[in-house]
Amino acid sequence: MTALLEVEDLRVSYGKIEAVKGISFSVEAGQVVTLIGTNGAGKTTTLRTLSGLLKPTAGKILFEGKPLTGVAAHKIVALGLAHSPEGRHIFPRLTIAENLQLGAFLRKDKEGIEKDIQRAYDLFPILGERRKQAAGTLSGGEQQMLAMGRALMSQPKLLMLDEPSMGLSPIMMQKIMATISELKSQGTTILLVEQNAQAALSLADHGHVMEVGNIVLSGTGQDLLHDESVRKAYLGED
Ligand code: ATP
Repeated sequence: MTALLEVEDLRVSYGKIEAVKGISFSVEAGQVVTLIGTNGAGKTTTLRTLSGLLKPTAGKILFEGKPLTGVAAHKIVALGLAHSPEGRHIFPRLTIAENLQLGAFLRKDKEGIEKDIQRAYDLFPILGERRKQAAGTLSGGEQQMLAMGRALMSQPKLLMLDEPSMGLSPIMMQKIMATISELKSQGTTILLVEQNAQAALSLADHGHVMEVGNIVLSGTGQDLLHDESVRKAYLGED
């Protein structure tokens, strides 16, 4: 069986600086896979490359067995890969409902779109309660929910989440992580980038630890959670 996403020896540079130095990993349909690592490890660069926003200097990206390198970003969305970026990037002056509709910009099935907007409201009731308000009035955590809801509106085969817990209170973070678990149980395949290694590894099937552009350790979420070097470096243990 081919994986939904296969990344082989991927390299990405910003000018002379190589930010991703030849990483390989795969994501099977139905899995949650996480990339963890400190600031500057290359996690965001990896997601932006998968989305077609950055061009790799070398390597292969295969989605459902087909190459993604050189494919335009909007076509990548159409193929089924959605990206909820770091820092959220919602449209603050548009309403919550309008932001969700924008996530469906490639779809024409009005009824299906309405159904999925309702699904986002079921997943995050606060979005439904405030659907007619400007998105900029939401709290940071609520904006994160909106960004996730919007990414889901393209009915992705693979949902990529970049640091969904960033800047959130512990309660909000738990809510976001619980939602990721719920999406997984509904069959959504997720590639999750997180600095909160404990939370990410707890719910991931597989994890990869990135350090300065390389994957230095891989394993199941549980294996990494119990790995001594991971516990020391990322889970704050002595
Ligand atoms: P963070 O969690 O801080 O976002 P990250 O693991 O996602 O970290 P990246 O944002 O992918 O890391 O950054 C990888 C490296 O590439 C870093 O050294 C960073 O300074 C560099 N970098 C990122 N964006 C650019 C850019 N636009 N121009 C030049 N260098 C960049």
